[in-house]
Amino acid sequence: MSVLGTITEAQLQDAVEELAGWLGWRVWHDHDSRRNRAGLPDVVAVHAQQRRVLFAELKSARGRLRPDQEAWRADLLAAGAESYVWRPSDWLTGTIEAVLRQRPTTPAQLAQDRTNGSVSTVAPADPQNATQGATR
Ligand SMILES: [Mg+2]
Repeated sequence: MSVLGTITEAQLQDAVEELAGWLGWRVWHDHDSRRNRAGLPDVVAVHAQQRRVLFAELKSARGRLRPDQEAWRADLLAAGAESYVWRPSDWLTGTIEAVLRQRPTTPAQLAQDRTNGSVSTVAPADPQNATQGATR
């Protein structure tokens, strides 16, 4: 198994929150979301100096967005918000750090079309991902 497959969503969450904190972001994360309405992204962060508010749904290498998460993401993007789907590969390539340091300049970067495309091609009914989806 490649390193990407060994990084869990929880580990990615910890890494993103720690780095974001170092870079001056105020990060919110609900560690027990069982009684919440579903779909709000895992990471909600604000950076006063950068004048940015950022939303990120975190997924394992093969995790898929649930319909409620897709709906939140679509509305956030429609409203002009920064909404990302981040995976372990985005951590290892430095994409996440780059976004946290500076707002991407193009709509395609903001929307992460590449990530969206890969999400829709992943085969459904992976039991491991179904479990993660229920808890995050
Ligand atoms: Mg998630």
